[in-house]
Amino acid sequence: YGDPNQKIDYVFKVVLIGDSAVGKSQILARFARNEFSLDSKATIGVEFQTRTLVIEHKSVKAQIWDTAGQERYRAVTSAYYRGAVGAMLVYDITKRQTFDHIPRWLEELRGHADKNIVIILIGNKSDLENQRAVPTEDAKEFAEKEGLFFLETSALEATNVETAFLTILTEIFNIVN
Ligand code: GDP
Ligand code: MG
Repeated sequence: YGDPNQKIDYVFKVVLIGDSAVGKSQILARFARNEFSLDSKATIGVEFQTRTLVIEHKSVKAQIWDTAGQERYRAVTSAYYRGAVGAMLVYDITKRQTFDHIPRWLEELRGHADKNIVIILIGNKSDLENQRAVPTEDAKEFAEKEGLFFLETSALEATNVETAFLTILTEIFNIVN
């Protein structure tokens, strides 16, 4: 996951948002360290992790910010959103409520972040298909209406996590180039 002496062409800040327990911290752990833990403790303190990858022969440092258990509505501060060029809006496919809260998160994001921010909607825990409460089609339709990218992921099984980050980072890359 990257040579520490590598020269960096770009740093892109991406924020993770969404209700508590949807899997934001595990998505980040999977992307940044290729790790997953079943008994992840609630995150304490604002935190980010980085991973450097190569996009079109340029090295891009992705700086991914994770909420610090501030998932209550309006508890995430504007400092969290400052300078963000991408956002991952995460819900849990087994918890309908976490999807129903997405419009609020989107509203908050659009209120605080840059208006050109690239947003991807993520339905996490796709490994729990037998407990699914949010049809893929509902989320897809919402994403299309709002102009968001959309993917279902499993941090547990490492499904689509890499693709989700690559989708958003490549789009950001194309905007700045
Ligand atoms: P956060 O509050 O949004 O940061 O959520 P966490 O990353 O702490 O995850 C909450 C719980 O869901 C933990 O018990 C995780 O192990 C579990 N979890 C996270 N991602 C997945 C996933 O893709 N599949 C399954 N089955 N469980 C997951
Ligand atoms: Mg967390």
